[in-house]
Amino acid sequence: MIKLAQRVQAVKPSPTLSLNAKAKALAAKGVDVVSFAAGEPDFDTPAFVKESAKRALDAGFTKYTASAGIPELRAAICDKLQKDNALGYTPEQVLVSCGAKHSLYNIFQALLSPGDEVVIFAPYWVSYPDMVRLADGVPVIVETRPEEGYVPDPTRLKNALTSRTRAVVLNSPSNPTGASLDKKALQSIAEAVAGHDCLLITDDIYEKLLYTAAPFCNIANAQPSLFARTVVVNGLSKAYAMTGWRVGYAAGPKELIAAMQLIQDQSTSNVTSFVQKAAVTALQGPTDELQTMVKAFKERRALLVNGLNKLPGVTCPMPDGAFYVFPDVRGLLGKRHQGIEVSGSLKLSEILLDDYQLAAVPGLPFGAEGFLRLSFAASRETIEKGLQRLQAFVSALT
Ligand code: PMP
Ligand code: GLU
Repeated sequence: MIKLAQRVQAVKPSPTLSLNAKAKALAAKGVDVVSFAAGEPDFDTPAFVKESAKRALDAGFTKYTASAGIPELRAAICDKLQKDNALGYTPEQVLVSCGAKHSLYNIFQALLSPGDEVVIFAPYWVSYPDMVRLADGVPVIVETRPEEGYVPDPTRLKNALTSRTRAVVLNSPSNPTGASLDKKALQSIAEAVAGHDCLLITDDIYEKLLYTAAPFCNIANAQPSLFARTVVVNGLSKAYAMTGWRVGYAAGPKELIAAMQLIQDQSTSNVTSFVQKAAVTALQGPTDELQTMVKAFKERRALLVNGLNKLPGVTCPMPDGAFYVFPDVRGLLGKRHQGIEVSGSLKLSEILLDDYQLAAVPGLPFGAEGFLRLSFAASRETIEKGLQRLQAFVSALT
């Protein structure tokens, strides 16, 4: 019997990754699975990005690089942050990592001592609390409500801040709700944290997948005085359909980025060399494929939301961004399916996969029992078929 580290016992497996893997394994066995589990675009990486990686490979760009990222990529990220977000960073303030997930991991490792607290708004992306726990920190969960558009309530936030609070995590557009925070909402968060010396971590990974008329805005835009204690996390996974390439970045205060680099130097080192070249090309290249993707997602969003709202017991707000809907399915809980009680979102998700071959992530691990997360990064045909299966499930409830 191997005695594992205590920290492993405090960490839960990622339900998004495991459900996705389960759906893929069933599909590989020939089962006709409808998967709403994916946390990734169903579009291919743009050809010009792939070509760039191939050119780098052919040119022999296959060796270790600077751990923090090649200079041209760090510079391209600074240009992007200036051009798109009006935020001025120097290359030493940027660390390139193996996806935004790795950037977040590095932040928590660099920032937290045992018992330090990180405020996370629920519903939250499944990995935030576990990444905090992996760094011996304590996730402090602050509820946000669907009837308030998932905008954090400043009083609830204030009540959660203590002398141990080291950071507040913001994620707009949000995984899993798709809700976005406008300037006014961000300003009220800024006011709530004003007297506290904590870091603001803004996870902007869904920045480009926004369907509102209002442009994207993060906390440092809404309240420039917070810039010095904001760390921006972003990456290429979503906007460039590059989830498997593993490239993301953080930009923030020099001391924090240097500490994160230290951790990266002693763990993973650099992101794959030729991927970094392709990332430069992606950041500097045309955005027409992104526009096509956004247009398709917007149409599918309407199809899925309208279909869900027709199901008795299901209520689904229209998300502002990302590619997730987060319907309230509390009206289905407590009913019976073939004699078995649909006791919660985990049971609901299990029945949908086992009996209807439909993969949807339960709300519970996002800190929102009574909800499901469905991804509309799927074709119209898939969405239509999935809605039919959901209808069949709802009709079978007693
Ligand atoms: N943040 C959020 C909110 C996410 O949903 C994800 C997962 N795709 C990530 C960060 C990490 O993305 P990646 O590591 O692929 O850049
Ligand atoms: N973030 C995506 C999701 O929520 C990808 C899977 C993961 O890393 O959790 O599904």
